[in-house]
Order: sequence, then C-alpha cells, then structure tokens
Amino acid sequence: MKRIALIGSTGSIGTQTLDVLRAHPESFCLEGMAAGTNTDLLVQQVHEFRPKKVSVATRELAERVRPQLPENVKLYYGEQGLIEVAAGTDADTVVMAIVGSAGLPATLAAIEEGKQIALANKETLVTAGHLVTELARQKEVALLPVDSEHSAIFQCLNGERAEEVEQITLTASGGSFRDLTREQLRHVTVEDALKHPNWSMGAKITIDSATMVNKGLEVIEARWLFDLPFEKIGVLLHPESIIHSFVEYRDGSVIAQLGTPDMRVPIQYALSYPHRWTSQARRLSLAEVGKLHFREMDLVRFPCLRLAYECGKIGGTATSVYNAANEVAVARFLNGSISFLEIETIIEKALSRHHVQSCPDLETIRDADRWARAVAETL
Ligand code: NAD
Ligand code: MG
Repeated sequence: MKRIALIGSTGSIGTQTLDVLRAHPESFCLEGMAAGTNTDLLVQQVHEFRPKKVSVATRELAERVRPQLPENVKLYYGEQGLIEVAAGTDADTVVMAIVGSAGLPATLAAIEEGKQIALANKETLVTAGHLVTELARQKEVALLPVDSEHSAIFQCLNGERAEEVEQITLTASGGSFRDLTREQLRHVTVEDALKHPNWSMGAKITIDSATMVNKGLEVIEARWLFDLPFEKIGVLLHPESIIHSFVEYRDGSVIAQLGTPDMRVPIQYALSYPHRWTSQARRLSLAEVGKLHFREMDLVRFPCLRLAYECGKIGGTATSVYNAANEVAVARFLNGSISFLEIETIIEKALSRHHVQSCPDLETIRDADRWARAVAETL
C-alpha cells in the first residue's frame, strides 16, 4: 500500500491523480491533501478520501471550511500548511500538483523528510533545480516525472546508460495558436488561448503552451531531471501529441514513448514505478491515426522558447526570473490587463533588467522571484 500526500488536489493534475487512486483503491491510502481556493471541491474530496491533514490557501478559507470537515481532520493554511501536508504525514510519496514556484518550499520540505516526489510542478525545478536535485541526491529521494514529455524520456532511458545518450527531444503540440502568424497573435483573446487542441489542463499551463513558455520550462526541467546539457535537449513540433518524447542513442537508435494524450498514464506511472498497472486509457491505434506530423521549432515565431534556452544556459537566478515574470504576466493576461504578446515582452524586459546571481541559495532565489514579480506587475 502506497501512502500519498497530494499538493494541489483540486486542479487538473490533482483531480486526475485522484482518478488514479480511485482506479486502484487497494494500492493507495491518502494521508494528506492541499488545495488553494476551491474549497467546495476540496471538502468533497476530503469526505471521499479521508486524509488526516488538509491545507487551504488562507486563514479565512480555513475558518470557513472547518465546520464542513470531519472533526479528526487536522486543518492548516498558507505556505506552512503546504509544508505540513507535504512533509508532516506518514506519506511515502508526495504528488506535487500545485502550479507555480509556490510549490518550492513544500517540495524541499518533503525531500528533506525522505519522501519520494511525483513531480508535476515544473516551476519548482525551473526556479531552483540545483537545490532540489542536490537535496534529492543527498536524501536518496527519487524525483519521478509526471509531465508527459519527461515521463516519456524517463521511460525511454529505462535500463540504458546515460553516457550513451546523444540527444533527447521533447515534442510540443504547439498550443492553441500554433498555426497563427505573429501578426494574427496581436488580437487573440483569453478565450481563444484557453482552447488547447489536445490536452485539457489548468489555465496557466494552457496559456504557457500557447506562448511556448511551457516548452521552455520543460527544457529546463529536463536539464535537471536528466542531468543533460542544453545542447542535448531538443524540441520538435508534433501537432498530434502521440509521440510524447524520444531519446536518440549514439548508435543512431531512437526510442520513443507513444500513447493517446491522457495525463492519467504518466501520473500513474510515477506512482506505480517500477511497475506498470492496468489503466482505462484509450488505446493507441496507429492505423486509425494514419499520419503523424513534425515541424522544426521556429524560435522567431516562439521567442519565449529561445529565452528559456538563453536563461537556462546562463543559469543562477535567470531561470527564477523567467519563471516568476511569466507567472505574473500570465495572470495579468488572464485578468485582461495585458495582451497576449505582452507576456513575452514582460518576460524579456524583466530578464534584461535583472542582475543574475550564480549558484543562488534559497533566500536569493526567493528574493529574485519576488523582485521579478514586482517588476512584472509594473511593466
Ligand atoms: P491547475 O491550475 O489546474 O491546479 C493547480 C492546483 O494548485 C489547484 O489545486 C490549486 O488550488 C492549487 N494551488 C495553486 N496555488 C496554490 C497555493 N498558493 N496554495 C495551495 N494550493 C495552490 O494546474 P494544473 O494544470 O493541474 O497544473 C499543475 C502543475 O502541473 C503545473 O506546474 C503544471 O505546469 C504541471 N503540469 C500540468 C499538466 C496538465 O495536464 N494539467 C501537464 C503537465 C504538467
Ligand atoms: Mg508537458
């Protein structure tokens, strides 16, 4: 029986993680769960899964939900609450399904306690990859990827030797606007941006897919998960999202992982690893698919991907600023205060004003994150 804590239970990854638990009730027990502001759903989830510890975003929300929870549930809130649920239960595995660099302190706390991490929260590795991977190494904790591309690479590397890898390639669907020109992008709306062609995901990552920031974050995530230089990490546009990513070895062999797009498969693999369990995922019929398409990634069309490679190579606090400026810019786009193309302008300007610090400690990263958020609010 696996003991799980789930951070971000009400989101897209969170609810699909609970689907996986529901499909294998004999294999799991949920020790703790944390969410932000969707307390109605959280209350339902608590009654169904009976975790011992629960956290919500704020004290006010905690006061409001307290009467609706079973009496023996311990209730927390805020950043400290996330840490309590991630690190302070008997869970052996923590699913990090929160969005944004807000997941960093809880991830570090869980690793510190020796818990395995099923990691969906890519922003954590982007903002502080060196700290997270170093602590995981010290504590002998596995960082098991949930992101579909990284789960694919992880599966393709299974049993192989790292030094025999020539290149990994992350595939990208291209997001909601892949066929629009930059001129056409000037007038797109929030509603248009939220229509992803292949995946149903949270709002922030759906916008990130349209700007290609998501792929940028994933390139940096891959650098840390697989300990590869950026020169060995490629991106290929693949509109069908059937090949989830692939690895090319030095003998020219290419190993890819394929499937229909369903996040419950990589979520489950992160929880069942090294085993594979049955799943209800729709089976892939290549005969039915007929054709797969691929296109070279255009870094002029998608400047946010170019910026991710640039600041990934610079390292230090550059990636923290890239991530935090983007988080604010996306929130501003979603609330209607800036246009779609201003997201990339804000990231670029924040980066150009930032004095990068190399090998930052946690406090320096949090300062850079705060600084970038403040700058991105005013641009
Ligand atoms: P989402 O917006 O649907 O859900 C986010 C969850 O985090 C919610 O439960 C929300 O309540 C919680 N949350 C947000 N801020 C919080 C805070 N300050 N305190 C406590 N809880 C907070 O997002 P999502 O699409 O599920 O994505 C989650 C993470 O997984 C992101 O890092 C995303 O990049 C990554 N990811 C998502 C998908 C996908 O298919 N959705 C795929 C790959 C990777
Ligand atoms: Mg992905």
